[in-house]
Amino acid sequence: MSEYPNTQLFIAGQWRDAEGGRRIDVLNPASEEVIGTVAHATRADLDAALASAERGFAQWRKVSPFERGKVMRRAADLMRSRADAIARIMTLEQGKPVAEAKMEVMAGCDIIDWFAEEARRTYGQVIPARAEGVYQLAIKEPVGVVAAFTPWNFPINQVVRKVSMALAAGCATIVKPPEETPASPVELLKCFLDAGVPGDVINIVFGTPSEISGYLVPHPIVKKVTFTGSTVIGKHLAALAGQHMKRVTMELGGHAPAMIFDDADVDGAAKILAMAKFRNAGQVCVSPTRFLVQEKVYDRFVASFVSHAKALKVGDGLAADTNMGPMANERRIPVLEAMVADARGKGAEVVTGGNRIGNKGYFYEPTVVAGASTELLGMNEEPFGPIAFMRPFKDLEEVVTEANRLPYGLASYAFTTSGKTAARLAAGVEVGMMTINHLGLALPEVPFGGVKDSGYGTEGGSEAIDAYLNTKFVSQTGV
Ligand code: NAD
Repeated sequence: MSEYPNTQLFIAGQWRDAEGGRRIDVLNPASEEVIGTVAHATRADLDAALASAERGFAQWRKVSPFERGKVMRRAADLMRSRADAIARIMTLEQGKPVAEAKMEVMAGCDIIDWFAEEARRTYGQVIPARAEGVYQLAIKEPVGVVAAFTPWNFPINQVVRKVSMALAAGCATIVKPPEETPASPVELLKCFLDAGVPGDVINIVFGTPSEISGYLVPHPIVKKVTFTGSTVIGKHLAALAGQHMKRVTMELGGHAPAMIFDDADVDGAAKILAMAKFRNAGQVCVSPTRFLVQEKVYDRFVASFVSHAKALKVGDGLAADTNMGPMANERRIPVLEAMVADARGKGAEVVTGGNRIGNKGYFYEPTVVAGASTELLGMNEEPFGPIAFMRPFKDLEEVVTEANRLPYGLASYAFTTSGKTAARLAAGVEVGMMTINHLGLALPEVPFGGVKDSGYGTEGGSEAIDAYLNTKFVSQTGV
């Protein structure tokens, strides 16, 4: 398909094929057709990227934060002007409806703008001294070369946060976007390069993820590792980074509870939560998954939620009337099928959905499982797909216990008109993020991150850039 570009590596300021010319196929998940290829880096390519990033860091750290911010804002404007074309590329490789893809691109522009402003607010401190004439300074310095590993569910959003923070702080990067969806994140990175970020400051590699991280994470040139993906890989990379004393940010899996109380606007909650559940076909780390509904309103909530699930049009993301696209890759389908079979086998009711759609493309029905016991596979493992599990609860204590049962602690949702209940949930649920009576997560200016097995560090808000800065203490006296 001509409108889909093949993807090269970007190393030392140049687009190039991998040494030896190896390439990986890229599929359209709606058609299963090969639409292009992406270069597969070798060890020699990685060495070249490391040397380039080292040079890039030496250069970029000397550019003033004020100037860095200006270049970044130019990149955001460029991406806005290219948003329609980039969104189509994303839909072709990832499957999501093109309107969702465009929203992701535009949200990416806002993220760049936010961190462009943060660049010039990387304040240190002047600490009052014990003696006259002594100046105690805490100075913020960029951590150095950052290795960033990002997944395929939000091809741009996952890269743009990491690269924007790194650039604002004065770091150089080696980015490994996903091999499944390589072209749209590369279009983002082109906006930075076209806006004036020097070539050595951003290096882009693809290949075998474990080989690349296995080489880059321990390498002495790399000073920080940032990863978004599954908890199991995150723990592996955090352990590897720990062995080599690297700074780390981990944004991992979740299993978000959505808690609906009987005093809530039940139909309003069902509508909002159905939108959240089926966005990006459920392939979202903050996707609501365990729907915990107070007994009195349980039947009504399930019926209302199911009506929204049934109304969704599943299809090719490029079709104007599509609400939900395919799974981004084939390996999600057997996971979803196993969760549905397990639910049926353990006596839960599949109220709607539960099947793959057609025999071409990785389409799966929006699915609702009611009467979900805590024994179900899907109540314990992240579906990362369009399945909602519904379970009634009696009281606040029971729902908080269930919300905290799993090792995950990323996002949570609550619907209640009681201020007291809201306050007790906010205090008692062990998560990184909670949104009450609306969807309020993931704006650039608010924290974004998890606790427990969902990782550590935030990728949003005013604290985020700290993860890309070291604090240096200087004590000085006048001569
Ligand atoms: P996965 O863990 O195999 O891969 C997730 C991402 O990590 C991919 O982009 C992959 O390229 C990368 N990756 C895998 N091994 C790596 C390694 N050794 N070094 C560096 N990067 C590596 O999982 P998957 O099959 O792609 O997705 C399944 C699960 O991943 C989901 O169930 C979900 O839990 C998790 N996931 C989470 C997010 C998120 O936003 N937090 C995004 C995508 C996937």
